[in-house]
Amino acid sequence: MLLMLLAWQGVGRAAVVLEEGQSSRVITADMQYLSDETGRLGLADVVRLPGSAWQQNDSDSFSHGYTKANWWLRFTVGNASGQTSRLLVELAYPVLDDVEVWVLGSDQTLKAHYRLGDKQLFHSRPLQHRFFLVPLELPPAGEHTVVLRLKTTSSMQAPLTLWDERDYHEQDQRVLLAEGLFFGGMGLMVLYSIFVFIALRDRVYFYYVMFVFSMLGFLGSLKGLSFQFLWPRATEWNDRVLIVSLASLIAFGGLFTLRFLRIREFLPRLYRPTIGLVLLAGLTVVLAFFLGYGVLMQPLIIISALSCLVLLVVGAWRWHQGDRSARFYSIAWGSMLLGGVVLALNKFQLLPLNFLTENAMQMGVAAEVILLSLAIVDRINEDRRLRFQAQQDMLASERRANEAQYKALVAEREANELLEHRVHERTEALQIANRKLEELSTSDQLTGLRNRRYLDRALQEECCRCQRYQHPLAVLLLDIDHFKRFNDEFGHDVGDECLRRVGAVLAMEMRTPIDHVARYGGEEFCVVMPETELEGARVVAERIRAAVEAMSFMVGDRVVPVTVSVGVASMVPPDEDYSREILKKADVMLYEAKAAGRNCVMTPRRSGNRV
Ligand code: GH3
Ligand code: MG
Ligand code: MG
Repeated sequence: MLLMLLAWQGVGRAAVVLEEGQSSRVITADMQYLSDETGRLGLADVVRLPGSAWQQNDSDSFSHGYTKANWWLRFTVGNASGQTSRLLVELAYPVLDDVEVWVLGSDQTLKAHYRLGDKQLFHSRPLQHRFFLVPLELPPAGEHTVVLRLKTTSSMQAPLTLWDERDYHEQDQRVLLAEGLFFGGMGLMVLYSIFVFIALRDRVYFYYVMFVFSMLGFLGSLKGLSFQFLWPRATEWNDRVLIVSLASLIAFGGLFTLRFLRIREFLPRLYRPTIGLVLLAGLTVVLAFFLGYGVLMQPLIIISALSCLVLLVVGAWRWHQGDRSARFYSIAWGSMLLGGVVLALNKFQLLPLNFLTENAMQMGVAAEVILLSLAIVDRINEDRRLRFQAQQDMLASERRANEAQYKALVAEREANELLEHRVHERTEALQIANRKLEELSTSDQLTGLRNRRYLDRALQEECCRCQRYQHPLAVLLLDIDHFKRFNDEFGHDVGDECLRRVGAVLAMEMRTPIDHVARYGGEEFCVVMPETELEGARVVAERIRAAVEAMSFMVGDRVVPVTVSVGVASMVPPDEDYSREILKKADVMLYEAKAAGRNCVMTPRRSGNRV
C-alpha cells in the first residue's frame, strides 16, 4: 500500500526527541489517539480527519480496558542531533492481537509499513524480539510520524517508549538475564518438586508443581517469551495459552490450598466455595479451546480476584486456628499479592520506577514459590514428627500394657504357687493323719504288733501274689499254752504282760521284712511268710517256739514257764481266694500240736509228729 497523504493535518504537538545522552523516553504522554468504534476507518480516512478528532493522551500510560474498537495512535519522532540516528519504538505489551504500523516521512511519504501483533507469525516481525519493536532511521533534523492501529481482544494497553537502538540492546541484555534467572530458577523448582513428588507420592507436591508450572506459562506468555522461544508459529495456541495457564494456575492453586491446609477437615464452610472456584477455573481451561480470548478473559479475571480473596482468607483463618503451615502459606500468598500491588502502584506512578518496582511481581512470585516449597517441607517434617511421636506413644503404652500383663502373670503365678504349697501342705498333713489312722486301725494296742484286720488283708494280698507267680505261701498259727490257767493264777495284768513279752519275742525272731506278724486274737498269734516252703516255715516256727520257751518270765521273784504250740501250713495257692484254707490248715496243725502235748510245732508232713 502506498499512499500520498495530501490531507495530512499535522500532529500538532512537538516531536518526541531523545536529548543528547538520553537512552529512552516514554512516548505515551506525547501522542494522540482516537477510537474507531465502527472499525471501518483506514489510514487514508484517519489522516484526513481534522486535528480535533484526535485526543491528546497527556498521561504516562495508555490503558482502555476491554474494547471492541480500533484504536489509532500517532506521534512524531524527531532527530535533534547532527547525525543520522537509529531509534526504536518499543511497544512493550506482547499480547496485543493486531498492531499495524505506518511510518511517514516529513514529506508525508510512507517510509515503512509493518503488520505486527501476536496473530502474525513471530518471524514476520522486523526485529525478532518478544516486544513489538519498530526501527526508525532519522536523518539529521529529520522527523518521522508514526501511526499505529491497535485491535485486540486483550485489554487495550500501549506502553510506548522511544529508545536509542544501541542503548536498547544493551539494557535488554540485562533484562533478559534477569528473566532467564527467574524462569530458570522457577524451572529448577518445578524439576526438583517433580522428583520430590515421585519420591514421596504426596499429591500436594503434584498440585504445587502444576501451580508453579502454570505460573511460568502465564508469566512467560504475558512477557512474550514463550511465543518467541517455544511456539513462534502457533499463533492460535499463543492466543489461548494465557487463558489456559491463568485458569489452571487458579485451579491448581485452589487444589493445593485445599489439600495443604486441610480445608475439608478444618474449614468445612469454605470448602464448597473453594471447590466451586476450582471447578470454574477447570471449566475455563476446557472452554479456552472452544471460545475466544475476549469472551473468557473477563470472567476469568473475576474468578482470579475471587480466588485471591478466598485463598488469602482461608490461609489467614487456618493461621488463626493455629495451623503451623498456614503461616508460611499466608506469607507466600501475601508476598505475591504485595508484588502485584507494588506493580500496580508503579503503573499508576504512585511508586517510583526502578528495578525493584518494575520486577516486584516476579520477585513476589519467586518468594511465593520458594515459601510454598518451604511450607511443604515444613509440613512433611511436622507430619513426620507427629507420626514419630504417635509411634513413641504407642510403643510406650504397649510397653506399659506388657508390664502390667507381666505383673499380673507374676502375681497369678505367685498365688498359684502359694495355693499349691498350701494344698501340698494340707495333703501331706492329711496323708500323715491317714497313715496314722491306718496304722492305728491296723495295730494291736496291747502288743504293738499288727492286728487281725491287717493280717487278713495281708494274707489275702500275699495269697494273690503267690498264686500269680506260683510261689509257696506259709502261715504259722501260735497259741500260748494253758493261758487260761495263767490268767487265773496271776491275774489278767500279768497275763497281758506275758502277751506283750511273747509279742516282743515274735517281733524279734522275724528276720525278713516281707513277713507279717500279728496278734490274731486273745493269746493267739499269726505269722504270714510269702515265698516260704514248708520246711523253711517249720524252722522259723521251731525257732520261735524255742525263743518263747527260753524267755524267762518273772512273776515276783519266781520264773514262770511260758510255752507256745505252733501249727504250720505252706502251699502254692491254687487260686486267689485260698487264704482262708491255708489258715484253716494251720489251725488244724495247731490243734494237733495241742493234742500232741503242747510246746511243739506241727506241720502237715509231720502230722502227728511232735518236733
Ligand atoms: P490251751 O493250752 O488248750 O490253749 O489252754 P488254755 O487255757 O490257753 O485255753 P483257751 O485257749 O481256751 O483259753 C484262752 C484264755 O486266754 C481265755 C482267756 O482267759 C485268756 N485270754 C484271752 N485273751 C486275753 C487277754 O487279752 N488277756 C489276758 N490276760 N488273758 C486273755
Ligand atoms: Mg487259745
Ligand atoms: Mg491257749
